[in-house]
Amino acid sequence: MRIPCPYCGERDLGEFTYGGDASKARPAHGSKGAKTWGDYVFVFENPKGPHVEYWQHTLGCRQWFKLKRDTSTNEILGMEQ
Ligand SMILES: [Zn+2]
Repeated sequence: MRIPCPYCGERDLGEFTYGGDASKARPAHGSKGAKTWGDYVFVFENPKGPHVEYWQHTLGCRQWFKLKRDTSTNEILGMEQ
């Protein structure tokens, strides 16, 4: 799979690290209980189809960005910086 880094251009998947689900809303700091934070950090969906994810170009510019990818075909559908 090839991923288009918004800063470096298209690179091989081996240069990137998956950073998790970018569609989850982060709980407000200090306003929720431990279960809410535990669910945010450790409970994940496993969607089939279009999904927004965090990725880091770890072996390149080391920048984080959001990538929209179809999880069933690995087609890149869009990205945000
Ligand atoms: Zn990069």
